[in-house]
Amino acid sequence: MGKALLGFTMDAFSPVPPAWAESATHALQFCCPRCGASTAQAQAVWINRRTPVYTPNHRRKWQEFYHCGECQTPWWAWNSDRPPTPGLSDEHGEADEDEDV
Ligand SMILES: [Zn+2]
Repeated sequence: MGKALLGFTMDAFSPVPPAWAESATHALQFCCPRCGASTAQAQAVWINRRTPVYTPNHRRKWQEFYHCGECQTPWWAWNSDRPPTPGLSDEHGEADEDEDV
């Protein structure tokens, strides 16, 4: 581990957007639009929970920002576009839990 991480913290729920998120581009697939790396390869994540958008079927969606760890491209996508994690819960499908205020 030669390089310092510059005090990097995985502060995904910080109210303040990180600098890298400001130049993020909207990814239509839920992966890096430049190199195709998955969110698992992101070096940082920020979730914009402050300004959720209400969808026509009364569900909230919000932007999830990812800073690609492969090509350093910042990108974002709607959390509602996130594909279900394979193998996690076949039975339950998408849990409709609302971890609320
Ligand atoms: Zn990338």
